[in-house]
Amino acid sequence: MDFITNIDDMRDYSRKARGEGRTIGLVPTMGYLHDGHLSLARAAREECDIVVMSIFVNPAQFGPGEDLDKYPRDMERDRRLAAEEGVDVIFAPSAEEMYPGGYATYVEVSGALTETFCGGSRPRHFRGVATVVAKLLNIVAPDKSYFGQKDAQQALVIKRMAGDLNMPGEIRIVPIVREPDGLALSSRNTYLSEDERRQAPGIFRSLKRAEELASAGELSAARIKEEIRKILRQGRDIRIDYIEIVDADTLEPVETVKGNTLVAIAAFVGKTRLIDNVVISS
Ligand code: AMP
Repeated sequence: MDFITNIDDMRDYSRKARGEGRTIGLVPTMGYLHDGHLSLARAAREECDIVVMSIFVNPAQFGPGEDLDKYPRDMERDRRLAAEEGVDVIFAPSAEEMYPGGYATYVEVSGALTETFCGGSRPRHFRGVATVVAKLLNIVAPDKSYFGQKDAQQALVIKRMAGDLNMPGEIRIVPIVREPDGLALSSRNTYLSEDERRQAPGIFRSLKRAEELASAGELSAARIKEEIRKILRQGRDIRIDYIEIVDADTLEPVETVKGNTLVAIAAFVGKTRLIDNVVISS
C-alpha cells in the first residue's frame, strides 16, 4: 500500500492509474478507522481497480469549541486496517498542504440542505465538508467516491455540490454499519464513558421504534417524534439536539410520512454529540 502526503504526488499517481486504464474509487475519511469506514473501502474495492482512502481531519469543518484538537488519531493503526482491507493508497495530507497561507476559496451549498439539522447546530460545518470534498475530488479525480448513509445530510450536500458543479465521477452512498446493540459506528464513540456507552444505543432504539410505528400505520411526524423523545429521555445523560422527520431527498420537513422519509437524530450523550438516522416509508 502506498502512503502519499503530497498533493502533486497524489495527482501523479491518479494520472498514471488512469493512463493505464484503471478506475479509481475514493473513500474520504477523517481516520481512526472502524468498520463503517472499511465498509466504504470494501464497496470501492468491489467496483474499482484502485482504492484511494483519504485520511484528513479537516479543520474547516470544525467550529470553535468543537473537538478538532482532541479528535482521535492513530495513523499506524489506520495504515494496518486499510492495508488489510485492500486499500491501494492512503492520501494523508497535512492541514498546511490542504490550506496553505493565503487560502481563500470555499464551496457553499445553500438552502435547506445545509441550513437545517446539523447546519443549524454546526454553522459552517457543511461549507468545510463541501470544500474539502471538492478539493479531494479535484486532486484524486476518482471514477466513484464513497460516503456513508450515517451522515445522511452530508451525503445529500455532496451529491448536490457534485451535481451543481458538474463534477465528473459518481457519488455512491453506503449503508450504516452498527454495533450488535444498534449503536452506529463512529470514531466519536471512543469519547463515551462505560455508562454513556450503555445509554447510547437508546438513539437507535428510538429510530427502530419510529420504523415500527410507521409500518404499523402511524404516519404522523409529530406523534412519531413524541415516541422518539420518550425513549431518548430514558437515557439519563442523553440530551436531544434535534429530531427531524423530513423528505429523504430534499430534507424538507413533513407532517405525514410519505414516500421515502428520513428520521434523523442528533443527541449529546454526556458531552459527545452523536448522529444517526433511518429511512422509513409509508
Ligand atoms: P468520518 O471519518 O467520520 O468523516 O467518516 C468518513 C466516512 O465514513 C463518511 O462518509 C461517513 O458517512 C462514513 N461512515 C462513518 N461512520 C459510518 C458507519 N457507521 N457506517 C457507514 N459509514 C460510515
